[in-house]
Amino acid sequence: MLKVGIDIGGTKIAGGVVDAGGRIVDKLRVDTPTDTVELATAVIDMANHFIGAHDIGAVGVAAAGFIDKDRATVIHAPNIAWHDEPLKATLEAGLRLPVTIENDANAAGWAEFRFGAGRDVDHMVMLTMGTGVGGAVVLSGELYRGGHGIAGELGHMRFTRDGRPCGCGQNGCLEQYASGRALQREANDIADAGGIGAALAALRDEKGKISGPAVSRLVLAGDPGAIEALRRVATALGEACGGFQAVLDPELFVIGGGVAQLGEDLLGPVRIAYETSLPGYGDRPTASFAIAELGNDAGLIGVADLATAPGEA
Ligand SMILES: [Zn+2]
Repeated sequence: MLKVGIDIGGTKIAGGVVDAGGRIVDKLRVDTPTDTVELATAVIDMANHFIGAHDIGAVGVAAAGFIDKDRATVIHAPNIAWHDEPLKATLEAGLRLPVTIENDANAAGWAEFRFGAGRDVDHMVMLTMGTGVGGAVVLSGELYRGGHGIAGELGHMRFTRDGRPCGCGQNGCLEQYASGRALQREANDIADAGGIGAALAALRDEKGKISGPAVSRLVLAGDPGAIEALRRVATALGEACGGFQAVLDPELFVIGGGVAQLGEDLLGPVRIAYETSLPGYGDRPTASFAIAELGNDAGLIGVADLATAPGEA
């Protein structure tokens, strides 16, 4: 059965028609409107476009934010002015098919579990290193949603006391130390310090900033300053994974997001930090680490797979 998956991002809405094997057979991208009414209309128009062109059984929509346990209401969204927004009802009013909504990081994690790096395990944790750190937890083959629907916000676990302020209202959250944005911050700090930061400093744009891709290129070129910046964020991520291992005991950590394109350059220091922070290391089974396989399409693939058609379990 074909299903529609739509991933509402901060700048783009990515939609696709996805088959039962997780393959995308049709795809569209549009800019994300800032107005919430226009946004809902854009999602409905995209879904109806696919429904008109294919035999579709259900529609899934992923967005950043807290989704309630009935998968119907967006309790809070960080980038869109939604508060207790009945998104499922709003979208179903404009479509002739049922709509399933899901947190975007959960949707991406589910896609990796079903069709990507996690397809051979039953217990998996995914961490996405983007602007923030997205999290998804799959236990015993099921997405773990918690008592209120909003579990798996691993990026907002307190990583350090009295730490950097976070957009969630707290401070010291993991995503302030282990995200793509954290990598840029570390690169800037190293550039400011001189010494090994000379090549990083030369990459500053007219606003004085160093972009994430620029840091990545220097890592691949073997620059010691860029490698040190990466080591710092990889260490934060790996230390957190040691804690997640103690709590959740996954078989596999899947690492996604822009920073994950560095592959083994990232995973090497992550593994070292994981092992050195793991309770009982040497006396317990450990998890493997893998890079996510589905890239930016993971969210739409995952939410399409999670969408439930009429009569489906
Ligand atoms: Zn936070």
